[in-house]
Amino acid sequence: MDCIFCNIRAGKIPSYKVYEDDNVLAFLDITQGTKGHTLIIPKKHVKNVYELDEQTAMNIFKVVPRLAKAINKAFSPIGLNIISNNDQPLQSVFHFHIHLIPRYEDDGMELSTINNYGKFNSEYFNNLVNSIKKELEHSAI
Ligand code: 5GP
Ligand code: ZN
Repeated sequence: MDCIFCNIRAGKIPSYKVYEDDNVLAFLDITQGTKGHTLIIPKKHVKNVYELDEQTAMNIFKVVPRLAKAINKAFSPIGLNIISNNDQPLQSVFHFHIHLIPRYEDDGMELSTINNYGKFNSEYFNNLVNSIKKELEHSAI
């Protein structure tokens, strides 16, 4: 399979590894959007969050606090974003990954999501809850 991150995992493509265990690998993002921008991947090829099983999710997410703390101590950012892009057109590498993006003053990135506070009524919120709950009833996890 021609997957960049599987090739990194196999050592066929070089990377700057910061962490590795039996199930997970973390390495510097090649673009370094901000100083210390790091990716965490499962060693197992999983396309995106929609294909992620619970155990693999646990393996990846359990190393997030440790890596985040290490990046925080190493570079003293003003904060840190945890992002995962899933599916086209957001996702560009189709092997699930989490971005750890330390943030700095004037780093050129948006600070937060759009604030739509006050624009929607309770009916709108309840409809959203019902839509998600309905799907949860049909799902295994
Ligand atoms: P996505 O857009 O799928 O959320 O993020 C994919 C990320 O993988 C991008 O931030 C991109 O810079 C990074 N990336 C793509 N190819 C390579 C590579 O060969 N090596 C490393 N270290 N990162 C890569
Ligand atoms: Zn892969």
